Amino acid sequence: GQKVVLITGCSSGIGLRIAVVLAKDEKKRYYVIATMRDLKKKDKLLEAAGDTYGKTLTLQPLDVCDDESVKQCVSSVKDRRVDVLINNAGIGLLGPVESISMEDMKKVFETNFFGAVRMIKEVMPDMKKRRAGHIIVMSSVMGLQGVVFNDVYTASKFAMEGFCESLAVQLLKFNVTVSMIEPGPVHTEFEVKMMEDVAKMEYPGADADTVRYFKDVYLPSATDIFQAMGQTAEDIARCTKKVMESSRPRFRNLTNSLYTPIVALKYADETGGLSVHTFYNLLFNMGPLMHITMNILKCLTCRCFRSRTV
Ligand code: NAD
Repeated sequence: GQKVVLITGCSSGIGLRIAVVLAKDEKKRYYVIATMRDLKKKDKLLEAAGDTYGKTLTLQPLDVCDDESVKQCVSSVKDRRVDVLINNAGIGLLGPVESISMEDMKKVFETNFFGAVRMIKEVMPDMKKRRAGHIIVMSSVMGLQGVVFNDVYTASKFAMEGFCESLAVQLLKFNVTVSMIEPGPVHTEFEVKMMEDVAKMEYPGADADTVRYFKDVYLPSATDIFQAMGQTAEDIARCTKKVMESSRPRFRNLTNSLYTPIVALKYADETGGLSVHTFYNLLFNMGPLMHITMNILKCLTCRCFRSRTV
């Protein structure tokens, strides 16, 4: 029969694309429950979903930060049967730690970490009972490797990786699979929203040097990396579908071959020195060479490492 797939954060970006790609599956193997906080934002999804709406795709309101909303949404599903849960909703946060309020930091954890945990808690008992299910989390390369000036966002994704790595062991006993998807940069609203936030930023509490490193060193190189390495939401949706359809889904799934060697640095030197110094040199000593380096890395790695990514 059809697999029921519930996805969070489908009004834009990766969530929207996953919903559409699954709803348009040629063999109609999926019944997609595309959820979003505010159904007023449904137009972009409905336009992309075309005539699948009402057939293989339905809409539900869901705010991952709200207990009641999560309970209501899952209870509205027939027999509460969610075969695949895709935790995609997430927000970013960029900038010097000194300038970020505790409240804003907590909001990131409330969405990226507790939001996904809240969803998992709600569907997991039924999956365990049925001895079947797949929990997928839209993590990030930043769930595996710290990135300068992304401290809190990175921490929220690390938290999710740790949570799921722990849970996966127990769930295997119940035939429930857990998979993390770890994209590098992806061109979505996410990037746009972050850059808008940065433009409004005032840097209270941060010294002039830190602000300069952030604005004049980090931001231009981040923009370069996005341009050279950015994938599309469609790429990530296809990777996610592939993970879902694999006979033995992997726990970790990098979607971008450049990041295989970057993540490997960490395991090559367990003291952490290699990672920290490599990133230090990339940020502070490469300067304008960054762009070229990114492109060389892209060429070098796409062939050798393709088999290691989704
Ligand atoms: P996006 O901003 O287009 O999509 C995120 C969606 O989550 C939005 O539709 C937003 O409304 C929704 N959302 C936020 N808070 C919510 C809440 N409380 N309840 C329900 N929905 C909520 O950005 P995206 O790039 O598509 O991001 C999707 C996921 O991919 C995120 O978890 C993000 O961390 C992750 N990711 C993004 C990138 C990237 O570069 N864009 C890279 C790696 C991982």
